[in-house]
Amino acid sequence: MMGSQPGPHERLLINGALCEPSDGSTYPNVGPASGQTIGVAPDATRTDFEAAVAGARNAFDHTEWPSDPTVRAAAIRQLHGALLDHADELTEITIAEVGATRMACSTVQVLSPLEMLPYYANLTESFEWTTSLGTADTLGGPAHRWIEREAVGVVAAITPWNVPNQINLAKVVPALAAGCTVVLKPAPQTPWTALALGRIINDHTDIPPGVVNVVSSSVPSAGEYLTSDPRVDMISFTGSTATGRLVMKSAADSLTKVFLELGGKSALIALDDLEDFGAAAATAVFGLATVCGQGCALVTRLLLPRSRYDEGLEAVSSMMSHTPPGDPSDPATMLGPLISQSQVDSVDRYVRSAVSDGARIVCGGRRPDPPMPGFFYEPTLIADVDNSMEVAREEIFGPVLVAIPYDDDDHAVRIANDSVYGLSGAVFGADETRATDLARRVRTGTMSINGGVWYGPDVPFGGFKQSGIGKEMGVAGLEEYLETRSFARPAS
Ligand code: NAD
Repeated sequence: MMGSQPGPHERLLINGALCEPSDGSTYPNVGPASGQTIGVAPDATRTDFEAAVAGARNAFDHTEWPSDPTVRAAAIRQLHGALLDHADELTEITIAEVGATRMACSTVQVLSPLEMLPYYANLTESFEWTTSLGTADTLGGPAHRWIEREAVGVVAAITPWNVPNQINLAKVVPALAAGCTVVLKPAPQTPWTALALGRIINDHTDIPPGVVNVVSSSVPSAGEYLTSDPRVDMISFTGSTATGRLVMKSAADSLTKVFLELGGKSALIALDDLEDFGAAAATAVFGLATVCGQGCALVTRLLLPRSRYDEGLEAVSSMMSHTPPGDPSDPATMLGPLISQSQVDSVDRYVRSAVSDGARIVCGGRRPDPPMPGFFYEPTLIADVDNSMEVAREEIFGPVLVAIPYDDDDHAVRIANDSVYGLSGAVFGADETRATDLARRVRTGTMSINGGVWYGPDVPFGGFKQSGIGKEMGVAGLEEYLETRSFARPAS
């Protein structure tokens, strides 16, 4: 386990300088695997946030950054090389402050997100920045019309703690590709991953001063300094739906553009024609393990055919018995710790609420025994859940799956769609056409059929309903950071 040895002491990145906060203050960074302080992070003041916005504003208004896609593509490629060179260091930081497993760092927690950089460098070069609409007879006579796409401006990127490298890069990289400048504010729990990104940008790339700024704070709502600042042109936010609402309210005064990636309570539907439930159970349980259940797009509601309910529960609980919680730095560990003690307490409260609502714990449902240091919880399956229960409606954000029986395909779709969220989902069935048709009826931004993986730099990701507004990654993820302008001049 990570002990209490001091971790790296990262600095803020403001207007091209790595610096301490204006009042010199720091706050402890707590390692989830040990529950101990592993080092400190700069605790930025309002003055620091304002300086970061001023730096980003200046770089946008007074440098060539927004107008030269070739320079931007080269800079993103340079950053890719630098991040690859620092991948081992980023892995250690991510294990230490997120509690991410080494296994997950070799995929979604560190290495997979780096694939975004070459994708967006290439897209910056191939993107149609200008489109001719040709000549038309207009109210004012014949006119030649064309469209130009250009950067929105200064972006405030506010991110959560669960998959910080992925989410920081999924905001910063497309924003840079578009020609925006950025102030990145990570969650208080995971400052180092963002600050390390800032340091690598500063020390190893030619990205001009002020184009990327990184400010960490112990105060979650310090993000308001950004969302209420009229010099910010766009807020790119990932976090809970509750905070997303606050962000939107704060942006309303200056009508700042908001892009929101919020919560989810996605369903996995296992159809009754499956030979067995092994693949469906593996998708649910291994997905859960990757981020200890702290993932917005995980399939956490298992919809099992009533006629084969016990068989489905058995497949899932047997899979869970192979994923005990363990030291995240051990390459063999699949399930690491939760982010904090308060998250463990919250997960346990949800499990207790399910029991008092009449549900049944099939396995787990408690902290490890004998106790482990740090913030661990056993993988948990809750059966006999009704979709109206709190555990079926709210994000638990821990290693907990709830199993709900259904009667027929229409019933399964109704349950899947009976949620304020619409982020993701999965269907498993022997008949792929039936499974695909059913997947289309579930109103979410992404769907997996028979284990197909949608995650990738070219695949847009984002939710329906209260899961958010807008799309991250892919071409759509670049377009979020662009304004479209239309021009016309008289045609002779
Ligand atoms: P959170 O909403 O508590 O915090 C997210 C970020 O917002 C943090 O940086 C926090 O400091 C900041 N913040 C808090 N209050 C703020 C305010 N008033 N104004 C501006 N910023 C503020 O979320 P979290 O607990 O860090 O992350 C977990 C949540 O994130 C879950 O709900 C999860 O589903 C969601 N999430 C969504 C996606 C997605 O892509 N849809 C991805 C990952 C996580």
